[in-house]
Amino acid sequence: MKAAVVVGASHGGVQAAASLRQAGWQEPIILLSAETDYPYHRPPLSKAYLAGEKDKDQLFLRAPAFYRDQGIELRLGDPVTGVDLQAKKLRSASGVTDFSKLILATGSRARSLPLTGTDTQGVFTLRSISDAQALRSAMAAASSVVVIGGGFIGLEFASTAVRHGLPVTVLETQPRLLSRSLPAALADHLRDYHTAKGVKFSFASQIEALDVEQGAICGVRLADGTRLAADLVLVGIGGQAETGLARSMGLELTAGGIHVDAHGQTSVPDVYALGDVAAFHNAYANAAMRLESVQNAVDQAKSAAAHIVGGNAPLNAVPWFWTDQYELKVQMAGLAKVGCREIMRGDPESGSFTILQMEGDRLVASYTVNRAADHMASRKLIGESLAVDMAQAADVSVPLLRAVKG
Ligand code: FAD
Repeated sequence: MKAAVVVGASHGGVQAAASLRQAGWQEPIILLSAETDYPYHRPPLSKAYLAGEKDKDQLFLRAPAFYRDQGIELRLGDPVTGVDLQAKKLRSASGVTDFSKLILATGSRARSLPLTGTDTQGVFTLRSISDAQALRSAMAAASSVVVIGGGFIGLEFASTAVRHGLPVTVLETQPRLLSRSLPAALADHLRDYHTAKGVKFSFASQIEALDVEQGAICGVRLADGTRLAADLVLVGIGGQAETGLARSMGLELTAGGIHVDAHGQTSVPDVYALGDVAAFHNAYANAAMRLESVQNAVDQAKSAAAHIVGGNAPLNAVPWFWTDQYELKVQMAGLAKVGCREIMRGDPESGSFTILQMEGDRLVASYTVNRAADHMASRKLIGESLAVDMAQAADVSVPLLRAVKG
C-alpha cells in the first residue's frame, strides 16, 4: 500500500496530513496518535483552558468530521512502538501498518527535574490536556504554589494561579527571567508586572529537595536553606524532543532533535520529521536548532507535504512566537542575538511597546507588548531584510513599515 503515515497528531502532524491532501496526495493518509483526545491546540493549556475560560471541545485543531471528510484515517490511542525501514512497516498498538512515506511529528515532552519526589501527588508538568485538567483541579484545592522555572509556561501558569487568589513563588536558576529568549528590558517588565500582581520571585536559586509528607508535596527547599511551603508545584523547565522512535530507527540526530533539511527530509529517504522533534539549519540563526512553536510545526509540515507530492517549498519562514500573561500579549519575531543594538519603541509604562534588535540597519528580532501591528510589520522587515531608518523606527507615531529606508 502506498500510504503516507504520520506519527503524532498535534499541530505538526495534523497540518502535514491536511496539507498532503490539499497538495493532491491521492493515496491513503494514516495519522497515528498516542493520545486519546481529538488533536487539540496546545498553547491554551497554559492560558485560556487553564483559566477555565475555554472548554475541551473548543480546543480541537479540526472538527472531528474533518478527518473523515478528508479521507484521513485518524487512529487515536495508537502509539507507534517500532519501525522497520527495510520493509517499510511500522508497529503500533493496533498492529502493523505499511507506509510508502513516513512523517515523524512526535513533538516534545516536558523535561523532568533531576530530584526525587517529582512523581509525588501535587507535583505537575504541563504538556497535555490531561496534565492541564489535573492542574485545573489541583488549583481549586491548593493553598500555596511554587513554580520551578521562570520560562513561558511557568509564567503563564503563575499569572493564572495568582488570579485564582493563590500565593505563587517562581524559582529561577538564572539571575533574570528568560535570559536566552528575551531582552533584559522586556524580561524585567514582565517580572515587575507579575510582582505587582502578587507573584514572588527567587532568582539564581538552586533547589535542594522537594519535601514530601504522607505521599504529598508540602514544600521546596533551596540550597541557601530557604524553605517554601507548597501543596502545588509546577515544574516548567523546558521541553525535550521525543526522539526515542527516531533513535531506534538509526536516524541522524542534531541539536537535540532529528536532523532534517529545509524540506523536512531526514537522513533516510522517504522519512520526514517536523515540529518540535526536528532540528534544522535555521538561516536566521545560522545554526542547527529545534524551534518549539506552533508556527514552526505548521510551516515545516507544509514544506514536507509539498516535497512528498513532488513540489518544492523549502522552509524559510521568519520564526515567531507569542505568550499571554494577564492583559499582556507578548509577540516575538526573528531570533534573539547577543550584541545587537536595541531600539525601544514606545514607553513600557504605557503598557504597549516594542523592542527592536538591529544588526546595522537590518531588523533581526522584535518583541512587542500589546502592539500587534508592530509584530506583523516586524515579520515583513525581518523576512525581506529591509533597511530601516533607526530614528523613524524609534518614533512610535510612525507606523513601523514606514521606517523602511528609501
Ligand atoms: P506536539 O504538540 O508535542 O505533539 C506531538 C504528538 O505526538 C503528541 O500528541 C504525542 O503524544 C504524539 N506522539 C509522540 N510519540 C508518539 C508515538 N510514538 N506514536 C504516536 N504518537 C506519538 N507555542 C507557541 O507558538 N505559542 C504558545 O503560546 C505556546 N504555548 C504553549 C503552552 C504549552 C502548555 C505547551 C505544552 C506548549 C506551548 N507551545 C506554544 C509550543 C507548541 O505547543 C509546540 O511547539 C507544538 O505543539 C509542537 O507541535 P508538534 O506537532 O511538533 O508536537
